Amino acid sequence: MPELPEVQTTVNGLNKKVLLRTFVDVWSDWEKTVKKPRLPSGQAKSFLQFKSEIKNKKIIKIWRRAKNIIFDLSENYSLLIHQKMTGHLLVGKWEKINGVWQAAKNSPLSDPYNRFLHIIFFLDDKNMLALSDARKFAKIELWKTDELLNSEEFKKIGPEPLDKKFTFEKFKKVFENKKGKVKQIIMNPEIIAGIGNIYASEALWQAKIHPEKNVANLKEKELKLLYQAIQKVLTLGVKLGGESFSDYRKPDGTKGDFDSERKVYKRQNQKCHRCGTKIKRIKFGARSAFFCPNCQQL
Ligand SMILES: [Zn+2]
Repeated sequence: MPELPEVQTTVNGLNKKVLLRTFVDVWSDWEKTVKKPRLPSGQAKSFLQFKSEIKNKKIIKIWRRAKNIIFDLSENYSLLIHQKMTGHLLVGKWEKINGVWQAAKNSPLSDPYNRFLHIIFFLDDKNMLALSDARKFAKIELWKTDELLNSEEFKKIGPEPLDKKFTFEKFKKVFENKKGKVKQIIMNPEIIAGIGNIYASEALWQAKIHPEKNVANLKEKELKLLYQAIQKVLTLGVKLGGESFSDYRKPDGTKGDFDSERKVYKRQNQKCHRCGTKIKRIKFGARSAFFCPNCQQL
C-alpha cells in the first residue's frame, strides 16, 4: 500500500504535470470508486452527477494529508483520492484499442502494474490522469473544500511526521497514556499520519526497537531514536520516490528507488545489514512485522 513517501512522490509528480489544468471529462468502468457524490437513487446516476460536477473545474493546488491526495479545484471544490491497497495515479496518454486503454509500448506506462485503469480524467491539454488499481479498493470523493477540511474523518487524522512543527516534544506527547505494541501505535493514522507496514518496520529497525515492545515502556532515549528513525526513513523514501517492489509506480509510470534501501521489510531469512542475524517475520494485528531478533530485543 502506498504510504507517506509514495503518496508524496505522487503529489510531487502531479504538481509537475497537471497543476492548473482543467478537467474536461471522466471515464470509468468501475464507478464504485467514486464514493461522493453518492445519490440514494443509484450508482450510475451518482457517477453522472460526479461527471457533471467535475467538468470545467481547474486544478489550483495539489497536496497531501496522511495518505490522501487532494486536488483543490476552482469554485471551492476539492477532489480527494485515496489510493488504498494497489491504486496509483498516472499521467500520460492512452488510446482505446479493441476496448482496452493502451499506452505506447515503449512507455513506462505500459508496465504490467500500470494496466488496471478503472478511471480516467481527460484534461484540457490532451493529457489524461488515470488511476490504475488492480484490486479496486481506491476511493475518490468530490467535496466542497470547507466541508472536507471540517469533516470528522479529516479532523481525526494525526500529526504529519515530516511537518517542521512536529517536534520531539510533540512526538512524545503523542505517546502519553498510550499502551500497546509500538508498531501498531505508530501505524495508527489517528496517532501519526502516513506510516504503514513498510516504513514502520524500517523505522523500528533503525531505532533498534522490537515491534512488539509496549510503548508505555519506551524510555526517553528510545523515543528519541524512534522519532529520528521515522523522519529518516520517510525522508529517504520521499527522496528516492517511494518503493515499487509491489504495485506502486510514480505518475510517469516508472518505479521508485526505495527498494534497495529496505533493511527488514520482506527480507525474512536474509541477513541483517547491521549484525548478520537472519531477519524474522512475525504476525500480529493481522499484519506481518519484520525485524532483527538480535538488534531489536524485547
Ligand atoms: Zn541485526
